[in-house]
Amino acid sequence: LVSRQHHPARSVIRVGGVPIGPDTLSVIAGPCAVETPEQTLEAVRMAKRAGACLLRGGAFKPRTSPYSYQGLGERGLRILAEVRQETGLPVVTEVIDPGSVDMVASYADMLQIGARNMQNFALLQAVGRAGRPVLLKRGFSATIEEWLSAAEYIAQRGNLDIVLCERGIRTFETATRNTLDISAVPVVQRLSHLPVIVDPSHSGGRRDLVVPLTRAAIAAGADGVIIDIHPEPKTALCDGDQALVESDVREIADAVTILSPLM
Ligand code: PEP
Repeated sequence: LVSRQHHPARSVIRVGGVPIGPDTLSVIAGPCAVETPEQTLEAVRMAKRAGACLLRGGAFKPRTSPYSYQGLGERGLRILAEVRQETGLPVVTEVIDPGSVDMVASYADMLQIGARNMQNFALLQAVGRAGRPVLLKRGFSATIEEWLSAAEYIAQRGNLDIVLCERGIRTFETATRNTLDISAVPVVQRLSHLPVIVDPSHSGGRRDLVVPLTRAAIAAGADGVIIDIHPEPKTALCDGDQALVESDVREIADAVTILSPLM
């Protein structure tokens, strides 16, 4: 169902009316995690200045360590809904278990499946039935074939509104958190009709890499990027090292404006 053999034209997926797909470059940005109403609103205002058309923010955080910040849960979703009201940007947020899919879908415009859950088949089937577009991140040890098979689980339940997100894979390299597999963008676009975006924040795990990796993603033909922003990264409860600050925002806006017409 997700193969280009089945559907030769590349698909455009609409999220709260915003298109993601060929001929557009969608910037999704906001805080890694929702912490407070003020922090979320300020991060999303910065995201708008970076050119964002959709906001991201995690209320349920699937952290590697159980001692790390796990998110505000439903209270975080209410904050995201308020920030959507205030800024007009549709909400992309992660869901981590099949039992809460309907509740998260009642607040979200797009459901995110994180790297750690890419092969949680019960969750994939549940979001396939939820009536919301899905952002499917690549698992950090998943091959492209496994990633597309995960998308197939969602599609099989009747939901073809899927956007794929390359977010870096685990390699022998330790200088960056993960290795951005930039070749995944054209490879997947050849194999699948689904849009492909890139996460330059979680792949590099470092603020100084986010702008260069965004430029690389645009040059490779990605249909969008998803970026972490925080008004005060030093106090961030999650992934502060990779969060963009105000001075980076203009560089993202410039990269999008200057490079996307060259695609
Ligand atoms: C995220 O986008 O908040 C996230 C946790 O990313 P990933 O699943 O790619 O690690």
